[in-house]
Amino acid sequence: MKYYSTRDKALSYSAAEAIKMGLSRDGGLLTPCRIPGIDAAFLQSLVGESYQERAARVMALFLSDYSLDELRNFAARAYGPDKFDTDAVAPLRKVDEDTYCLELWHGPTSAFKDMALQMLPQLLSAALGKTGEEKTACILVATSGDTGKAAMEGFADVEQTKIMVFYPKDGVSEVQQAQMVTQEGANVGVCAVVGNFDDAQTGVKRIFSDEQIRDTLAGRGYFLSSANSINWGRILPQLVYYISAYCDLLSCGRITMGEPINICVPTGNFGNILAAYYAKRMGLPVGKLICASNCNNVLTDFLRTGVYDRNRPFHNTMSPSMDILISSNLERLLFDLSGEDDGEVRDYMARLSADGRYQVSDAIREKLGELFWGGFCDEADTAETMTHYYRDYGYLIDPHTAVAANVLEQYRKETGDKALMVFASTASPYKFCDHVLRAIGQTPAGEGVELLDQLHEATGVAIPRRLAALKGKASRFDQTVEKTGMDGVVLDFLK
Ligand SMILES: *Cc1c(COP(=O)(O)O)cnc(C)c1O
Repeated sequence: MKYYSTRDKALSYSAAEAIKMGLSRDGGLLTPCRIPGIDAAFLQSLVGESYQERAARVMALFLSDYSLDELRNFAARAYGPDKFDTDAVAPLRKVDEDTYCLELWHGPTSAFKDMALQMLPQLLSAALGKTGEEKTACILVATSGDTGKAAMEGFADVEQTKIMVFYPKDGVSEVQQAQMVTQEGANVGVCAVVGNFDDAQTGVKRIFSDEQIRDTLAGRGYFLSSANSINWGRILPQLVYYISAYCDLLSCGRITMGEPINICVPTGNFGNILAAYYAKRMGLPVGKLICASNCNNVLTDFLRTGVYDRNRPFHNTMSPSMDILISSNLERLLFDLSGEDDGEVRDYMARLSADGRYQVSDAIREKLGELFWGGFCDEADTAETMTHYYRDYGYLIDPHTAVAANVLEQYRKETGDKALMVFASTASPYKFCDHVLRAIGQTPAGEGVELLDQLHEATGVAIPRRLAALKGKASRFDQTVEKTGMDGVVLDFLK
């Protein structure tokens, strides 16, 4: 299957090339030229299978230049017991009869990013071989907290790769920062940027599109690639867990084949919910896709009005991975909803970059309304939802997950829709101990990793093994730059 740019369909590539490049040269996102279909027989055939087998079978539908056995090997390595703390990999936890939580944080860094970033390095490593690439891939990452750590964990010491991570200096939690600056591996680099996530992401995109930097690096034997969710190799492994969740609901008899479920996703860069959208497009029985935002509610407004407008105050919230005003993956959705009209997408993106604002066509707006429902949750309600879940269900959830839990209730109240709801839990509560402690009525005594034990003593919930190991681990990186200095950091790293 071919992949083409959302801004110019004439630029088309194999899956291996698309994964290797990350982003198209014209700034567009590489997107499959056809969405393969799945039917009841396919879903039924996955019901008795492991998560690993489900992953290989689903990904094979999109990756015609990878063999099924190759993908089985990758899945075994990505989702094995040395990486994930449960055999289910992405278990569904029942909250009440009609509400199930899809826990996506059982991997090595305790965030849902592991679901894709344990797989991407293997897809990319194989892609280097398949395309006869001799240069070393340098993965540049802008992170709002979780991607950076998960990407380094996936790429650490992977041959023929290096990885450089930029994070907003005051925009990540202390546990997240500790996770990143203690990362091991000879091929990794980490740097704080003075600014917010959008500044870091804009800086990385600028470096990508700078011909001069590319040439200099090529001369030194490097090419740039991306592990952000603009890379198709990030989105594809995420389709799997929605399909897998449906199979689990079939397997426990909660639903019958064909019964639609709703899916609610705490959203930032629009990658995770886009994966749910593609699963629906493939034929997974999904009713509404509910897009949950925090106070940075640019997507809520967009889904309700058809106007995307990033000209608004930026808020640092307790769900920092959703503190984003430019949701990159929306571009793939617009491409699909416009009937793959690359000119129309190019026009929206040009307006976004010139004015920070665009309005979609009536046709797209109508489709958005049929497919999606957008809502947001402020800080007080996020905290209150964590309190409520712990008190009433004995379920400790992190602030990102709480945003989704809150918005799905808003959706039910407003629409009366009673279909079964699956919502995504995207991080372990232990990554955000201070907010979680306060929400359950405790006063944090200390900061950062010191709070892990306090939360454990208060709740009895097990601390993820790798987070517990952070205590006393030496910091390896302490560099901070202004956003204009990011180019220099990359050139230094790839000396
Ligand atoms: C990255 C992240 C999100 C947002 O996911 P997108 O794919 O960017 O929409 C939500 N929650 C957590 C914990 C994350 O790490």
